[in-house]
Order: sequence, then structure tokens, then C-alpha cells
Amino acid sequence: MEIPDLTILHYPHSTLRYQSQPIKRVDQQLKDLVEQMFSLMYEAKGVGLAANQVGLPLRFFIVNTESNPNSGKEQVFINPVVRSPKGVSLHEEGCLSFPGLYGEVERPEGIYLQAYNLQGEIFSKSIDKFLARVVQHELDHLDGKLFIDHVDDETLEKIQGGIDTLQKVANENPAKEREEEIETFRQQVIQHYC
Ligand SMILES: [Zn+2]
Repeated sequence: MEIPDLTILHYPHSTLRYQSQPIKRVDQQLKDLVEQMFSLMYEAKGVGLAANQVGLPLRFFIVNTESNPNSGKEQVFINPVVRSPKGVSLHEEGCLSFPGLYGEVERPEGIYLQAYNLQGEIFSKSIDKFLARVVQHELDHLDGKLFIDHVDDETLEKIQGGIDTLQKVANENPAKEREEEIETFRQQVIQHYC
């Protein structure tokens, strides 16, 4: 299938609220898409990027907590499952789909994670601190959840202006894709990979 060049989608694109589907096959095209996603993530100075943030309704995300192609570790998590949450931590989060907006989010401090890599091998590990936070933020994306769903009322009030601006930009964009076309593309991707 043909997939156009990826771009990072901003709120309120409908694929950000989409329940992503488990992947059943990894092909060369998917590996190329992952590479493109890392480039986009570094360009935007992010530490994580979920597939549905670039329009792909698939259950995977990428992470490099150092946001640097020359350092840190590039990790791909396919069909991730998380369990055994431990502790609580409160920390500021941002999101590449909400440029310039930040808010404190409460999450478990540590989790046990299981996922597949790009070679189709299963791996699991206990993670905590920053990596655990990034992984939970990205996992939320796959379920159509966004960090603004977690912030308290006071924070939401503070960033509401920015959220409204994103909504306005989307409404005014003359090149805005039609919802029907977006849904057709999602179904094509799902048919190919799920
Ligand atoms: Zn995000």
C-alpha cells in the first residue's frame, strides 16, 4: 500500500482519538515508517511519538528519552502491554500534538512492560522514572487518550486558550482533509498491518 510522507498531527485530528489496532505483521515499509517517525520526533525535539500521532492507527510507539539521534537509545514498542503499576509521581508533560502546551500529570512511578520489537521478538522489563512516564504517555495515545484528559481543572483552565487556538487553526485550514478520506486511509492501513 502507498503511504504518503508522514507529518505530526496536531489536536484535534480525529486519529488522535482513535483506538489503535494491534499489528500482525512487520514489513520493510513499516521499518521505513519507523525511521521517518524518529526523524520527525527529533526535529520536533520530542522524546516519544505514537503511531496515531502521524496518522497510523496501529499499536506502536517510539521512544528516545534523550531526543538525540547520536545518543540515548532508540526503542520501538509494538503491541505494548503494561501492568503492575507502582507508586505515584507528579510531573509536567508536553505533547508533540499540542505544541507549546504543558501540564502536570499524575502517573504510576514504575510499571512492568511487555512489547515486541521491530524484529518481531517479545521483550519485557520493569521500568520507572522518566522512561516509565514517557511509555505511559505514549501508551495512552494508542487508546485515544491525551495528556489534557489527565490534568487538573486549574491546569486545564490555564492551557484552554492554547487548545482553543489549535481547534481554530484546524477549522480554518483550507487544505483540511475530509473526515471520510481520513477514515478510508485508516481502514487501508489496518487492512494491511492488522
Ligand atoms: Zn503525546
